[in-house]
Amino acid sequence: MEFGEDKTDVKSLSLEELQAEMVNIGEKPFRAKQLYEWFHKKLARDYDEMRNIPKSLKEKLESGYTYTSLKIVEVQTSQIDGTKKYLFSLADGNLVESVWMQYHHGNSVCISSQVGCRMGCKFCASTIGGLERGLTPSEMLDQIYAIVRDTGERVSNVVVMGTGEPLDNYDSLLRFIRLLTDENGLNISQRNITVSTCGIVENMKRLAGENLQITLALSLHGATQEKRRTLMPIADKYGLDEVIAACRYYFEKTGRRITFEYSLVGGVNDTDEDAENLCSLVKGINCHINLIPVNPIKERDFVESAKENVMRFKEKLEQRHVNATVRREMGRDIDGACGQLRRRYAKAGR
Ligand code: SAH
Repeated sequence: MEFGEDKTDVKSLSLEELQAEMVNIGEKPFRAKQLYEWFHKKLARDYDEMRNIPKSLKEKLESGYTYTSLKIVEVQTSQIDGTKKYLFSLADGNLVESVWMQYHHGNSVCISSQVGCRMGCKFCASTIGGLERGLTPSEMLDQIYAIVRDTGERVSNVVVMGTGEPLDNYDSLLRFIRLLTDENGLNISQRNITVSTCGIVENMKRLAGENLQITLALSLHGATQEKRRTLMPIADKYGLDEVIAACRYYFEKTGRRITFEYSLVGGVNDTDEDAENLCSLVKGINCHINLIPVNPIKERDFVESAKENVMRFKEKLEQRHVNATVRREMGRDIDGACGQLRRRYAKAGR
């Protein structure tokens, strides 16, 4: 029996669906609103906390439904900037990582969308063991809820940039976004949500039509088809032209500026010629480029670009009036590239 197949995941339901569910099990519809508040506003860890819910209803919920509540396995806190990296265990024993970062403009959480990943990007630790499964909407939400409970602080920004390819788990992602931005829940602004994709073109187009105000980030990493292919196997399926056309389409449909992520790998994609190619590629697109010095993982031999190469690359872009920032390296002391904490545990067989 697969996880989640048998019982309804009550924390992934919309308020309307929860109302229908209450009626189905012979309860008053107003119970749905009460429950929904406990789930998504008061962020209850379990049914025990839900004081105004009768015991008889709690029993029905406990026997007929699953209630997602992630367990913290480990928290690493950066001594440099207070960034926290969380390792959570799911009900089936799988592990996921999330990161909490403090910025001047508010707190930000980076969540995972899958257990593992099947996209195979060459420099990424999350993909090494392949894909285990997609996360449910409630498992994505509860990474944020558990962090809010633990830190006691509000979260204003959410980035779906942890382990996994969000557009490879499309339906769950959409449900997650709708719940997270619901006024009866945490009510996070859609404009403060960023979804990062390696470039699954048909789902980028689909996302453009969902009437959302979220930011789409495309992992580019190579400015020509040949170069991108060497780092990202997904480029064999969706060529660079097609991916860029999908970005333009996303902007046309939503009016939202695209973010391009470009991880700088020493000697691979950080030359003047690469910078020139990047400028030509994004010419005329309303976009912002995030330059990320690659975080070397021990399973691969990629190295970071030298500091002066990073600055030079950025200057080249600026000369051509292309918006670019070098991503601040948060939690450098605890980091280990994305996915490394989970891998360390998985290897130890815990
Ligand atoms: N699958 C999605 C989101 C997860 S990865 C995507 O591909 O966009 C989030 C970002 O981190 C992506 O741009 C990814 O390419 C990048 N990344 C992964 N491993 C990295 C590493 N070791 N160093 C720098 N960036 C990395």
